[in-house]
Amino acid sequence: MENIHELNFLKEKIQELKNDGVYRKLPILEGANESEVILNGKKVVNLSSNNYLGFANHPRLKQAAIEAVQKYGVGAGAVRTIIGNMDIHEDMEKLLAEFKREEAVMVFQSGFNCNAGTIQAVTEKGDLIISDELNHASIIDGARLSRADKTVFKHADMNHLEEVLKEKRDNYRNILIITDGVFSMDGDIAPLPDIVKLAEKYRAMTYVDDAHGSGVLGESGRGTVDHFGLHGRVDFTIGTLSKAIGVIGGYVAGSETMRDWLSHRGRPLLFSTSLPPAAVGPIMEAVRLLMSTTEYTDRLWDNAKYFKEKISNLGYNIGKSQTPITPVIIGEESKTMEFSKKLFDNGVFVSGIVFPTVPKGTGRVRCMVTAAHSKEQLDRAVEVFKKVGEEMKVI
Ligand SMILES: *Cc1c(COP(=O)(O)O)cnc(C)c1O
Repeated sequence: MENIHELNFLKEKIQELKNDGVYRKLPILEGANESEVILNGKKVVNLSSNNYLGFANHPRLKQAAIEAVQKYGVGAGAVRTIIGNMDIHEDMEKLLAEFKREEAVMVFQSGFNCNAGTIQAVTEKGDLIISDELNHASIIDGARLSRADKTVFKHADMNHLEEVLKEKRDNYRNILIITDGVFSMDGDIAPLPDIVKLAEKYRAMTYVDDAHGSGVLGESGRGTVDHFGLHGRVDFTIGTLSKAIGVIGGYVAGSETMRDWLSHRGRPLLFSTSLPPAAVGPIMEAVRLLMSTTEYTDRLWDNAKYFKEKISNLGYNIGKSQTPITPVIIGEESKTMEFSKKLFDNGVFVSGIVFPTVPKGTGRVRCMVTAAHSKEQLDRAVEVFKKVGEEMKVI
């Protein structure tokens, strides 16, 4: 008899991954997430993190974490609706609302959690969710948890979005249009002013997941809505506290009504313990830093422009990114993975991204430049791109 505990059905699936050449082990980082790291035992320039502003190991944030732990302990001890809603959670939300120039903010334990909890809480049977086809996995999963009907529009295609709205508007009570603010694989910005105009024309609500816009776009990193000056016209703006802010968590910015409702029906708030003080302290410190200076976002954009220009001058195709996300498009899947491996062997870590995460034949290494990189590190990375690109005859 087969032993059920052998999990043979999973072993078979794992073997399939190996046959397809997509099996991998998790890379191991020794030490903090910095611009140069020891990864799998090798010293490399890190061009793969979402730590846009270098906050993940910032001394002021670390100090804020220590102070919060000393006063509040290591855990919140309960969900927010029982006794896990500390005064620092409320203070953090007020500060974030001020930063985002919105009425109110509700914080969740992660960006993923935020989408999983919010989309289902603000839609129901009889509603329609219209989602950009390239939206993030957590939006797709979040929409699956909703009892509303779902449909997609072609990426950033306003004619298609309007077609869908025109055809479906009268069949539904509420319509929620969902888009990423910045698309993580290509670095392009959603055409938000046009989306908002269409939404208002067809009486639909808008929901922007600004995980890659937060801390990057807008005044001192206030995000895509601020970048376009659309305050008060996007109903739900999601931000993450895990990328540019450098810690962990996610939030919705919008109206007081939104916050009030989510405090009753945002399931991750009701059934999962709130953020620990060690996260809340540094999140607030990060926001205070951003409100006091544009130094970090300025350096991020300066580094991004510097790197993009040099990579582009080497003859690489860097796509249509409008943000620090810099895809270097190689094309064929196995060639992309080989390219990434050769970069690593030469001291630069950029993970390869291939089908099914991006369309077939558009394999790429996605470079994430941060404020923490020195020009010398970026120069070194560019040299490696030149060497490997010439060796592999891709430039
Ligand atoms: C990273 C990301 C998330 C998840 O955020 P976490 O805080 O890491 O859970 C959600 N949406 C988008 C668009 C993202 O890029």
